[in-house]
Amino acid sequence: MDKKKYLIPFSGLALLACGNEVREQHPNIIYVFPDQFRNQSLGFWAEDEYSDCIGWQADPVRTPNLDRFAGESAVLYRAFSTCPLSSPYRGMFLTGMYPERNGVTLNCMAERPESTLNPDAVCISDVLAANGYSCGYIGKLHAETPMKNDPANPGHYVSDRTPEWDAYTPPERRHGFSYWYSYGTFDEHKNPHYWDTEGIRHDPHEYSVRHETDKAIEFLRNENGEREEGAPFFLVLAYNPPHSPYESPDDCMEEDLELYRDMDYSELYVRPNADTTLTKAPSARYYFANVTGVDREFGRLMDELERLGLDRNTIVVFTSDHGETMCSHGTLDPKNSIYTESFNVPFLIRFPDRIRHRTDPTMLSTTDIMPTLLSMAGLEEKIPETVEGRDLSPALLENGKECDVPDAVLYIRNYDGERDEDGLVRGIFPAARGVKTDRYTMEIAITRNYEVERVLIFDDLEDPYQMNNISHTENQELFSSLCGKLGEKLEEANDIWYREKILERLSFDNIGLAR
Ligand code: CA
Repeated sequence: MDKKKYLIPFSGLALLACGNEVREQHPNIIYVFPDQFRNQSLGFWAEDEYSDCIGWQADPVRTPNLDRFAGESAVLYRAFSTCPLSSPYRGMFLTGMYPERNGVTLNCMAERPESTLNPDAVCISDVLAANGYSCGYIGKLHAETPMKNDPANPGHYVSDRTPEWDAYTPPERRHGFSYWYSYGTFDEHKNPHYWDTEGIRHDPHEYSVRHETDKAIEFLRNENGEREEGAPFFLVLAYNPPHSPYESPDDCMEEDLELYRDMDYSELYVRPNADTTLTKAPSARYYFANVTGVDREFGRLMDELERLGLDRNTIVVFTSDHGETMCSHGTLDPKNSIYTESFNVPFLIRFPDRIRHRTDPTMLSTTDIMPTLLSMAGLEEKIPETVEGRDLSPALLENGKECDVPDAVLYIRNYDGERDEDGLVRGIFPAARGVKTDRYTMEIAITRNYEVERVLIFDDLEDPYQMNNISHTENQELFSSLCGKLGEKLEEANDIWYREKILERLSFDNIGLAR
């Protein structure tokens, strides 16, 4: 069947000739996003072709499969996780909406019942399913508040942990995903568990990345009716590694750890902003081991896709929900910051004959992913009104139409709002907002009294490791210009900082903002 496929320029669709019947065949989409996989941990950045556009040194990681994949993809080096935290990322990726509209404002857990994917929000999978796709979700969902709905123990959470983080997602909340092999959040890489389409729990006692890749391969082969034969498919594969834990050989595969076991800190830590006296410093070996573990399994998936002859009409994305600071900037928090190690994410997209291999400077926000993929799948007309991101497919596709590409992206950090008498978090505190332009990064953080807590400004061109915070008081013109850009992005996002005029109300050491 594959050799009878013809590509139509401009449309994103291929024709499949089936006997006398010729019908439009939308491309398949595979979306792979390991958790906490930082952009710096990709081996190919050390190669001349790629290193010229970044200005920083790649981590000393072995990722041969992703290196090869990059050679067939558009490699976006300015992709950012708008709110670089597990659950808010997932809400934005799935809906193309900002957290305040899709419901996922904070990391989902039992004490934050309000932070959960709105059942009525139209997800990318809802749109694809409505247009004939078979949709499958494998791995970590972490976009739902845990509920007392354990299929094996009705009326109880899925575990007896307090507070509960893990969750079971019942069929009515799966947003068009007809194949399900997923869980909420759970951090034992060699002891994962999943609930399948029927709500049956599986405890496979093996490395989660390997197990999930096996399930993804079953989905591709469609051995057990995982998807509708002949229909295009959308497969999401959400690995948990290289997310923590990364403290011991129990947290990764021995064969991968071998590559990094004997490296000392001067070899493991190539970024001059890393502080290897932090207690976290030994984690790099295990983190990199999981990076290589993800690479191997991703390669196995791509090999199978090719063996099945499905690679030519399949869009494949490799990205992550956020990065990992790994001892940079003196923080132990791996994410939820504007530092480039947390905010910048990998984004490799392969679509044979439609996307040319290159490094690509397009600035991508999390909300842009859904409309861009729907458009590439030939469903531009089906992008829901609720989507707040941009369709950037013209900028990425060969012979794409003209489109405005963003000159800056928004950064969002929220903390818990007040707690009620039951100890449950009610609402959010919008702790920081920031903006990244083609040259600068700026973040403004506030106290709970809505006073300025900190202003960060980095010149990412001259200072790619963000080691020198440019004084906002001594560089008023630059600061005003960045505040102007932040104001634009806040308005575009209809953000709480825009609606409540938080930026305007702040006092910056007597500096008036040029608005
Ligand atoms: Ca995460």
